[in-house]
Amino acid sequence: MTSGELEQFVTGLGQPKFRAKQITEWLRRGAPNFSVMKNLPENLRTGLDAAAITLPAQIEKKLESSDNQTTKFLLKLLDGEVIETVLMRTSYGNSVCVSSQVGCAMGCRFCASTLKGLRRNLTMNEMIAQILIAQWELRSDSAIKPNGDANNNDVSHIVVMGTGEPLQNTENLKGFLEYANAQMGISWRRMTVSTCGIVSGINDLTEWGRPVNLAISLHAPTDALRETIMPINKKYGIADILDAAFIQTEKTSRQLMIEYILLAGINDSPENAEALSELLRGKNVMVNLIPMNAVSEREFAAPSNNAVHRFQDVLIKNGVHTRIRRERGADIGSACGQLRLGDKNEK
Ligand code: SAH
Repeated sequence: MTSGELEQFVTGLGQPKFRAKQITEWLRRGAPNFSVMKNLPENLRTGLDAAAITLPAQIEKKLESSDNQTTKFLLKLLDGEVIETVLMRTSYGNSVCVSSQVGCAMGCRFCASTLKGLRRNLTMNEMIAQILIAQWELRSDSAIKPNGDANNNDVSHIVVMGTGEPLQNTENLKGFLEYANAQMGISWRRMTVSTCGIVSGINDLTEWGRPVNLAISLHAPTDALRETIMPINKKYGIADILDAAFIQTEKTSRQLMIEYILLAGINDSPENAEALSELLRGKNVMVNLIPMNAVSEREFAAPSNNAVHRFQDVLIKNGVHTRIRRERGADIGSACGQLRLGDKNEK
């Protein structure tokens, strides 16, 4: 509800207007229901819980990683679908990995999210709910794990890297990020949208103009190789994707992030690294190398540590900025590429 709608709703219940403001404050903190809103009269709280909901998603299950810093939420939506959201407490802040769709249509051969295809887009409110739920979790003392900064119990970073292709759901994505910026004070520069390379969607972000970070899931340096692991490359080739991406990052003065999963024997050779350097040399990019995470239905394997470093060394030699992504929560199936429809989530 807009604030006007909420006021109307509240006065319709015979309540004074200021209740709407009280409720709004609770909603912004991610209240899971009305009974937690302790500054409302008890009968009103009960009445509201019978008549309304605070969020279009409820925690179905919560998995804590043994690293003590990663929590995966299985969230049940109003139509019964289940999605996954990951909260990562880091030294630089609290980052939420948000899903943008139920399932995914992209068909990438190494990823668990697409195994059952696309069920539907998430609404703007369903994306907002994911960060509000994480926010509530961070504020509830039972759940807080020290992350080195005792004052730091707000969501500070958003990565749209969960299940789904965000640029197939661009309008809701933008509305969600606008909310996070305006209502939760999260800076644009702490938001990252990751895409497999939907050029029309990248152009849409450019036109929108907000300085969010853009990450491209590249994973191969040539179209011929990329097509074999990412079917979407038949529609949008590497050159067009990178052209569109650099227009966005130049307009917003951001560094482009390139995600590159290393799949043993597929795309992890020094020649592949040379070809990748050719594409990116001299550009304002950071290559995030992601050793393949296990997905039981998928045949690919992670490269050896040696292969990872050999690959990275080639990039460094060519002056391309690179780092190896530290994986979080692989033991709870919450690492990159492991998020899926919520029916195979036993620990
Ligand atoms: N559809 C968007 C958002 C998902 S982001 C995109 O493609 O960018 C999730 C990231 O994890 C992507 O970079 C994806 O390619 C990567 N990923 C998928 N499967 C993986 C796996 N098995 N191991 C490591 N990373 C994987």
